[in-house]
Amino acid sequence: MHIDILTLFPDMFDGPLTESILKRAQERDLISIRRHNIRDYATDRHHSVDDTPYGGGGGMVMMPGPLVEAVEDVRGDDLDVPVILLTPQGRVFDQRVAEEFAGHPRLILVCGRYEGVDERVRKLVITDEISIGDFVLTGGELAAMVIVDAVARLVPGVLGARWAAEEDSHAMGLLEYPHYTRPPVFRGIAVPEVLVSGDHGAVAAWRRREAIRRTWQRRPDLLLTADLSEEEGWFLADLAESDAARSG
Ligand code: SAM
Repeated sequence: MHIDILTLFPDMFDGPLTESILKRAQERDLISIRRHNIRDYATDRHHSVDDTPYGGGGGMVMMPGPLVEAVEDVRGDDLDVPVILLTPQGRVFDQRVAEEFAGHPRLILVCGRYEGVDERVRKLVITDEISIGDFVLTGGELAAMVIVDAVARLVPGVLGARWAAEEDSHAMGLLEYPHYTRPPVFRGIAVPEVLVSGDHGAVAAWRRREAIRRTWQRRPDLLLTADLSEEEGWFLADLAESDAARSG
């Protein structure tokens, strides 16, 4: 997979892209990521990329010229590549969107700054708009990093055999079960017996039940669409019943 990032601050990506799993994925040619400085596409002698808004008001707006030129140059003839604008006004990013993006061979991420981009950029070259949540950042760079990280770990081979993305929270519509590692007892709290039993079937069943319990406790909204067996449905009903009994 190849990801192009259009930004006014390419150096901001140094840390996240040059450490750990993303670093190794690039070294192993599983993903390639290129940063492009939008300022390189400015045409005046001051390399301007922003200007005051028509109609007045505070702040600056990213000019359409450099941004549209940058997208067209980076995109080349590949008109099918998604050109994704990071904006708090976009559809909200989640694991489903990460999976959707991971299915594309190429993505272009466009990072806004200031008050955002001139509306004509949206009309001319943007094919999708993504928000990473209902809050406002100073720029799209951190949002782009979140997307690159979440998408890259879904690319086959990036996590390696020892980490399964399939069991992660949200991948199966549930939050993940609790994890334990050594020591077996820490400050008086023991690891659940079943996890040291060596019985893989019992471990899998315990994990599935705990994932349902945890989802019920923290994100019951997810259970509306989770794919549960009949037996798991009964388990959930028991959880709900005992909670109702406890609360009165
Ligand atoms: N005036 C804009 C508005 O109210 O919609 C917000 C502009 S924000 C200060 C500057 C840039 O940060 C945006 O153009 C966008 O690229 C990025 N940004 C801010 N919040 C974001 C979010 N929740 N998700 C994705 N990008 C965001």
